[in-house]
Amino acid sequence: MDLLIVGSGLFGLTIAERAAAAGRKVTILERRHHIGGNAYSEAEATTGIEVHRYGAHLFHTSNATVWEYVNRFTTFTNYVHRVYSAHKGVVYPLPINLGTINQFFQSAYSPAEARALIQEQAGEFDPASASNLEERGIGLIGRPLFEAFIRDYTAKQWQTEAKDLPASIISRLPVRYTYDNRYFNDTWEGLPTDGYTAWLERMADHPNIDVRLSTDFFDEAQPLNKAAVVGQVPIVYTGPVDRYFDYTEGELSWRTIDLEEEVLDIGDFQGTSVMNYPDADVPFTRIHEFRHFHPERADRYPKDRTVIMREFSRFAGRDDEPYYPVNTATDRERLLAYRELMAGEKDVHFGGRLGTYQYLDMHMAIGSALSMWNNTLA
Ligand code: FAD
Ligand code: UDP
Repeated sequence: MDLLIVGSGLFGLTIAERAAAAGRKVTILERRHHIGGNAYSEAEATTGIEVHRYGAHLFHTSNATVWEYVNRFTTFTNYVHRVYSAHKGVVYPLPINLGTINQFFQSAYSPAEARALIQEQAGEFDPASASNLEERGIGLIGRPLFEAFIRDYTAKQWQTEAKDLPASIISRLPVRYTYDNRYFNDTWEGLPTDGYTAWLERMADHPNIDVRLSTDFFDEAQPLNKAAVVGQVPIVYTGPVDRYFDYTEGELSWRTIDLEEEVLDIGDFQGTSVMNYPDADVPFTRIHEFRHFHPERADRYPKDRTVIMREFSRFAGRDDEPYYPVNTATDRERLLAYRELMAGEKDVHFGGRLGTYQYLDMHMAIGSALSMWNNTLA
């Protein structure tokens, strides 16, 4: 073995694929019973509808190197992601655009008129110098739209008031003075034609790659455990960084989600793939309906059944799946302390979402793995 990789998410798989292609022998340890990390999907047993087990995953990128790389393993459908928001019993398009504004104010504003209105309503705060998410949100879209679509959704999602969250969370939500309601601005987007798992399995399909499922790096009962291998072979570690160091600098906080799946005896529940619920009196944040991610499979999917998932958000305990870094000031201090420990860990390379405590989209995880391979490991 030339390289040991802990975790078979997109970061670990990209490193494994590159190393194997360069003639190195690689072993991947994966705690779960399947490869692919959080991008894993499978067919729901009774309907055959592809469901994303760890939350809906939409591939999008403007990085030409990453786009070329992923297309070696899968083609992508022409799915374009759009999200709607059900506020007080009325459905609006997201991200906030001229359609949302005109529907909300029951008006027919031109782009210039809408811009002037929002500028007037947003005047309370300057988004550039906003010190928290509430100030940034109001400074971007004005108080009425902020209170309708952002304030309570964000409080539900982060279990924290918008005024106590960093302003940076909301820079992901653009405001458009056109009727364009594409959710992402990227050059390329789509879903893997044969599903995520087929894509992920093709990345691992090489005689130089040995995958060991249901195997935990910290389990001393298995031979390739941490105590046995650190210092013996180069390691790429993509599990939680605080766990690696036995939480000596304190725990890093994460948000997790609970997904409640339901199979319904109707052909179409909501007419679209994602409906957000921004009101405080609805306990979940959104509902995913998976058949709508693949309209091109309409002939293969049942016409009288559908699969939905309601998404609930909460803080993660040690035994929960860590999904989104919360990134409080305490977390950032602890992360700095962990970074010092990481630098002292000879020939262990920390990567991916959990290993660096960073929210990474799939294209970012792949891009940073390609950089680690090219610049450090190769
Ligand atoms: P992961 O996929 O988390 O893989 C890490 C792997 O390491 C896991 O399989 C884990 O089991 C394994 N592991 C951990 N500890 C150990 C151990 N001790 N021993 C053995 N194995 C271990 N990105 C997008 O581009 N678009 C989206 O729409 C999107 N939606 C998302 C929705 C949700 C709810 C979440 C959480 C993420 C979403 N992402 C999305 C991000 C995407 O999931 C990540 O970019 C990607 O999973 C990163 O890959 P990774 O390899 O860093 O981590
Ligand atoms: N957001 C919101 N209302 C919405 C959608 C998003 O307030 O209807 C805010 C919320 O704070 C969220 C952030 O925008 O955390 C980013 O949303 P996005 O949908 O990009 O995040 P995801 O949960 O899909 O990663």
